[in-house]
Amino acid sequence: MDLLDTLTAKGLRGETPTREEALAVLATTDDELLDVVAAAGRVRRRWFGRRVKLNYLVNLKSGLCPEDCSYCSQRLGSKAEILKYTWLKPGEAAEAAKAGVSGGAKRVCLVASGRGPTDRDIDRVTDTVAAIREADPAVEVCACLGLLSDNQAERLKAAGVDAYNHNLNTSEGTYGDIATTHTYADRVDTVQKAHGAGLSACSGLIAGMGESDGDLVDVVLALRELGSDSVPVNFLIPFEGTPLAKEWNLTPQRCLRILAMVRFVNPDTEVRIAGGREVHLRSLQPLGLHVANSIFLGDYLTSEGQAGQADLDMIRDAGFEVEGMGEGTLPRHRADIAAAVTAGSGGGCGTAAAGAAAGAAGGCGTGGGCGPCGGHDHGAVEDAAAGTPAVGAPVTAGGGDEVRTDLVRVRRRGAGTELAPNA
Ligand code: SF4
Repeated sequence: MDLLDTLTAKGLRGETPTREEALAVLATTDDELLDVVAAAGRVRRRWFGRRVKLNYLVNLKSGLCPEDCSYCSQRLGSKAEILKYTWLKPGEAAEAAKAGVSGGAKRVCLVASGRGPTDRDIDRVTDTVAAIREADPAVEVCACLGLLSDNQAERLKAAGVDAYNHNLNTSEGTYGDIATTHTYADRVDTVQKAHGAGLSACSGLIAGMGESDGDLVDVVLALRELGSDSVPVNFLIPFEGTPLAKEWNLTPQRCLRILAMVRFVNPDTEVRIAGGREVHLRSLQPLGLHVANSIFLGDYLTSEGQAGQADLDMIRDAGFEVEGMGEGTLPRHRADIAAAVTAGSGGGCGTAAAGAAAGAAGGCGTGGGCGPCGGHDHGAVEDAAAGTPAVGAPVTAGGGDEVRTDLVRVRRRGAGTELAPNA
């Protein structure tokens, strides 16, 4: 297939495909699916070998958000029966993080619901990072606290935070359909603030909200332009009690095509399968590992994932290995760019492209709120535009999946409860 030969060659050279080529990946048929996965798998192995990075979410503050992100169980007016609690104490957060690290996670993602942190909240996170580092000095810490004000990214960097997650979520053109209390441009600004302060930028998307193929490609190209070091790919978890509860648009095959498109556009970037992995990829999860090089271990912010041990078994059974604490994630050339930004500080996100995306963004990750956010050095290892249905429309470019509300389980364990975390 000429398309896949072209995409593989470009990916092995670290080049980004054209918009038309990215769209064509999403238009491939089920008969072509394994060829698509195999091609994306070659690119994945070129830059990341057979390593799988494990990330662990700690929801520092859950629910009661004043923002109206329609996909989010923590949004203003959400009727989803999720855990609601205010800031965990640093010791409580460090205990939760320890469980994830013990399970194999090398990055801990500290997430808090809300529009953005106050300066007092930055103090809380600073104390929390110190408590986590006291237990394990080597663990990577990512913060996901919403929209950043001036100088907050610099304070987080000084506190020892490695990365900042803030997802673009969807294309600039359709952003106003999923949230009205902030704009796509707000989100881009926060990613740029984080990157400019020398934090590794983690920014991704949510698929399955009623967007077109064009929207998906646009947001993924924008993320490449922004210079995101890690790209979490969330598959919408349609929580009962949220405006998108009826959006069951994804099939496992569609999810694999989306992951492959994200990999081809971001050949040398950490691509993470984030929220909705169990709900939408289901028994095809192991195939996703051939394309993505990163997942969350255990539970998400407000929903439960499969058992942490099942994640580890899946990685081993599929012939992959958990990335070690001392190993770098990004290929050396990407890590060098990140180091240069840190040294120069204030350089802004990415490359020449930052300007292209700057008109547009902000949301955190994991299909359930701010969060499943989302690395560092290594050498190379191995080798139709669709229509644009409105967000909220009942059937989308995904082709329509069966409703599987039985797979959406509200988190009832771990942070904010008396029960042990799943890790
Ligand atoms: S995604 Fe974040 S900002 Fe939006 S409603 Fe959820 S917690 Fe609030």
